[in-house]
Amino acid sequence: TVTLDASFFRRFLDRTAQVVTAEADRLTELDAAIGDADHGTNLKRGFTSMAGALAEADVRTPGELLTAAGAHLTNTVGGASGPLYGTVLRRMGKVLGEDAVAQPQTLGRALAAAVASVRRLGDSAPGDKTMVDALQPAADAYAAALPGGGTARALEAAARAAREGAQATVPLRARRGRASYLGERSVGHLDPGAASSALLMTALYEATDP
Ligand code: ADP
Ligand code: MG
Ligand code: MG
Repeated sequence: TVTLDASFFRRFLDRTAQVVTAEADRLTELDAAIGDADHGTNLKRGFTSMAGALAEADVRTPGELLTAAGAHLTNTVGGASGPLYGTVLRRMGKVLGEDAVAQPQTLGRALAAAVASVRRLGDSAPGDKTMVDALQPAADAYAAALPGGGTARALEAAARAAREGAQATVPLRARRGRASYLGERSVGHLDPGAASSALLMTALYEATDP
């Protein structure tokens, strides 16, 4: 069984910092094809400095941790993805509230609210070839799998849905962000933000394994 306490979410953030660092070159290459070749650099810098800042911070609840993490990302990452991922984490933190241990259903509500906040901030929807194409199916898969499968299975389903959703951006034409400037020429490329969102959701699943 999974305990959704502050340690769980610290593992999530630490693993995210590790994986976006390990995959920074690949993310930047994806962004070179349809953007401005900075996505990996942006996330590597933002998540690494966030993990460093949080290691020293006296935060006790998942809500406090994610709220602080989101604020840090918004302040340190330039580009579209900083405010968008900042919003994801802050929104999750707000929904998780002041409980020391989150309920699995509350995590589901937090994921759904986080996706809604990205869609609102970015004026984006599934099919626009953005991170929403990974995050929306992940939130939906978590909610669908939780009742029968429990937290770990639901997080595994969410991670799988995010990876499939990211892959499914390849044939799409971008309608938001820098890639949209390319019009038809954005077709045939994986969206970098969808790829990084799949890494985040996989890190959330892997946080179940301490
Ligand atoms: P920038 O495009 O400013 O250089 P990044 O390269 O860090 O920022 O991030 C680009 C990613 O951000 C895109 O691949 C896309 O997934 C996401 N993105 C950009 N604009 C939007 C938007 N309006 N709504 C949702 N996601 C967006
Ligand atoms: Mg970019
Ligand atoms: Mg940029």
